[in-house]
Amino acid sequence: MPAKPKFYLTTPIYYTNGLPHIGHTYTTVVADVIRRYKRMRGYEVVMTTGTDEHGVNVERAAKKAGVPEAEFVAKMADAWRGLWDELGLSAEEFVRTTDLRHVRTVQWLFKLFRENGYVYKGHYTGQYCIYDNAFVNDAKPGDNCPDCGRPTETLTEENYFFKLSAFQQPLLDFYKKNPDFIQPESRKNEIVSFVEGGLKDLSITRTTLRWGIPVPGEEPHVFYVWFDALTAYLSAVGGPDYEKRGMWPADLHLVGKDIVRFHAVYWPAFLMAAMLPIPKQVWAHGWFLMDASKMSKSKGNVVLPRPIANMLGMDALRYFLLREVVFGQDGNFSYDALATRYNSDLANGLGNLASRTAAMIEKSFAGKIPKAGKLEPQDEALARETQTAIGDVLDYFEKMNFARALESLWAVIAAADKYLTTEKPWSLGDSEDDTQRKATILATIAELLRIVTVLAHPVLPDSTVKIWTLLGQPGPVSAVELDGLRWGHLKTGVPLGKPQTLFPRVEKVEAIERIESMANEELNPTVAPTPAPAVTPAASGATAATAPAVTEKIGIEDFAKIEMRVGQIKTAERIVGADKLLKLTVDIGTEIRQICAGIAQYYEPETLIGRKVAVVTNLAPRKLRGVESNGMIIAASVGPEGRPVLASFPEDVEIGARLK
Ligand SMILES: [Zn+2]
Repeated sequence: MPAKPKFYLTTPIYYTNGLPHIGHTYTTVVADVIRRYKRMRGYEVVMTTGTDEHGVNVERAAKKAGVPEAEFVAKMADAWRGLWDELGLSAEEFVRTTDLRHVRTVQWLFKLFRENGYVYKGHYTGQYCIYDNAFVNDAKPGDNCPDCGRPTETLTEENYFFKLSAFQQPLLDFYKKNPDFIQPESRKNEIVSFVEGGLKDLSITRTTLRWGIPVPGEEPHVFYVWFDALTAYLSAVGGPDYEKRGMWPADLHLVGKDIVRFHAVYWPAFLMAAMLPIPKQVWAHGWFLMDASKMSKSKGNVVLPRPIANMLGMDALRYFLLREVVFGQDGNFSYDALATRYNSDLANGLGNLASRTAAMIEKSFAGKIPKAGKLEPQDEALARETQTAIGDVLDYFEKMNFARALESLWAVIAAADKYLTTEKPWSLGDSEDDTQRKATILATIAELLRIVTVLAHPVLPDSTVKIWTLLGQPGPVSAVELDGLRWGHLKTGVPLGKPQTLFPRVEKVEAIERIESMANEELNPTVAPTPAPAVTPAASGATAATAPAVTEKIGIEDFAKIEMRVGQIKTAERIVGADKLLKLTVDIGTEIRQICAGIAQYYEPETLIGRKVAVVTNLAPRKLRGVESNGMIIAASVGPEGRPVLASFPEDVEIGARLK
């Protein structure tokens, strides 16, 4: 058997001065969808993602957190990798730019530039902030530093320059010979005009930066971030030994539209200078805007993936991201649209079709998929429509038009719903003719469902496995070859699998409120319900990196701001959908407060009643999982999991007593 063709794709190597939001998730989800799709088309696929860990922003963030850079980036890399694992998006290669394999590749590439005569020593002059120790890009003399507001100084430093100017014509020739290299078309036109406008040589090392890969024998020169980060795509699959792994050149670099220039101009030029193979394609996607403006933490409109995955499932998020916008264009993200699509397309659409088909087969054919009898024209029409959709969907996948692929697929689901409404299998009786007709209808629907399940698998990897199991079809759905997919291959006579919960309908307002409150908890981990799980770095991997445990001394006046009193728990109950939280009412002497506490996994509600606890009483009220919490219960955080242990007081301590 011939070896499988290879397909190597990458997400950007994400910068580690922050944590992943929906924008990063979008790129990574698309990469994962393509990976699954290509596998079903017979490719051996490797996907790379990773973390860009050098540069002045990381240096600053580490300083602010009071930890050495290496420790800071290790935590960040864990948080990124951990989130991708949690969301089912683990890549074959997770490359960190502090990995030794990467350091070697960067230094090797530079050596090739040098041998081939494409680097020289020169001077870089720019505006520099002496407080932040960094050049301010694009600043003019007299401009202030955007980070600290102090005046910048004009500074000249020695750099190594890459002769980018030598590649103007070679790049233009390359774009002409490879018209699909930059996608979509609009981005390609931008890049071509940029290159036609002339290319300046590029400074690729710094002497003012400390946290970077050293240029061997040229200290204090370190490589500048872009040269460093781009090279990670190559280091992930073998670096200098890339031929052994057989994955290079990359078939696809997925990037956001803001970084297409680095990938479509600098990167191929670097590879040309080193005489290495050039990637096949760079695909630039648009941004998700939140209510038409770009997301940012300062605007407080950052959308996080985890709360959505927790509430609606990762498949729902994947479906929404791919269905809502045409890949390559900007789109608007709204929780309302997400919940609406979830209910209409997944709960009422695919989920409902699968569960009612199974229920009818269960009832009429003892749970075994029947064989179709004589076909009527309407049965044949539905078969033809589905068969046509297979070609359309695969074609759209090839063109990365995921929105249209899903649209075509859901048109088939709608046709099935309509067919069932017209044919009414439930109204047929038990006569031989009626039973025959019922068998034909249900076999037709089951076959349609089988095909939809296979085609939807790259986008909905979890729920399609459930539907596949429900239909009792052999082998894993991921192993079905898309090239051989056609109408008529349904295995009949097989028993249905166990009924599966697919997409339970949600009440929209409540679902959105819960997602928002979970996001709020994740973004503001220090104002959590109890000091136990939320502020203990070990207990909340993702937040640990942004807020490493720094023991800073505070003055007595700061401590005096916190009002703590002895309270007595009056009632305690669980909160539906929040397995860590208890809703308590607590008597603090002057009033009875409602307070949520993250102790549900360790305390039975009824054992808490009457117990005297320490309460922070002047904390601003906030909502947790949609439930108002007015105060905070103090608990010790014990063990690596941060098990909460409540502070307690003897009988004679009176309710409302102030803690000092
Ligand atoms: Zn500054």
